[in-house]
Amino acid sequence: MKKVFFITSIFFALILLPFSTRAEPDGEAMPVKILLVPGHDNEIWGAQYGKIKEADMNLRLAQELFKILRNENRFETYITRDNLGYTTVFADYFASAMDEVIAFKNKAKKETAEKIDSGELVPKEGAPHNNAAAEMALKLYAFNKWAGENNIDAVVHIHFNDYPRPSKWLIGKYRGFVIYVPEAQMQNAKASITLGESIFVELKKKYITSTYPWEKGGLVPDQELIALGGNGTLPASVRSVLIEYGYIYRFGNTAFRHGAYKDMAARTATGIKNYFFLK
Ligand SMILES: [Zn+2]
Repeated sequence: MKKVFFITSIFFALILLPFSTRAEPDGEAMPVKILLVPGHDNEIWGAQYGKIKEADMNLRLAQELFKILRNENRFETYITRDNLGYTTVFADYFASAMDEVIAFKNKAKKETAEKIDSGELVPKEGAPHNNAAAEMALKLYAFNKWAGENNIDAVVHIHFNDYPRPSKWLIGKYRGFVIYVPEAQMQNAKASITLGESIFVELKKKYITSTYPWEKGGLVPDQELIALGGNGTLPASVRSVLIEYGYIYRFGNTAFRHGAYKDMAARTATGIKNYFFLK
């Protein structure tokens, strides 16, 4: 039965193939599949300034972006979290596929170590990041595995930035946004970098790029972030960018912060649309 379905699927796929080009937005184009990942979660919330938690900010901005993309037929948009926690698709995936995710992670790490040993992959040191806690790292691997299995075209990771400060109540010295993209040797680098540049152009019209020396220029390649497909865990067809929209302590003012969610989401959406449809 499965085999019949498979063959039938191939048959229809071949028939539909000539119409599935994304370069013709007026034709019967397949929707572009986007996965939004608001960084961190309610258990491990990332940065904090006073009472403002990064995970909440990431979610608010991601929800604004989700609203914009959802209203476009050209996109099929997924989000990993909502106000209640992980969305059903991902809560189910964590519950049912975690053993496979662990195997996926171990295999990817082993293959990467072998590539480094053989000289096929040259390790590049990137900006310092806090290591994702083991549980969160596993969730990031799960998102990558799921994105590959579901033919996602682009994964957008949404974060607000921080660096080690003496107290979570103190304003720090750095400011500005940065977009992390896969390092050139990674299989999804080329397409991801172009997507990153397209979003960068829109954000740069209004916001300064990061003043943190490691993030100079505002578009920074990174080989180690799992979110970007570290250890070869995203195929070439799955673009991934990780946006740090600004340093968290710059968003203490409530009205400013809420305005920023909307404005930054709108600019990100424009960058994504321009990349996929402005050929
Ligand atoms: Zn973060």
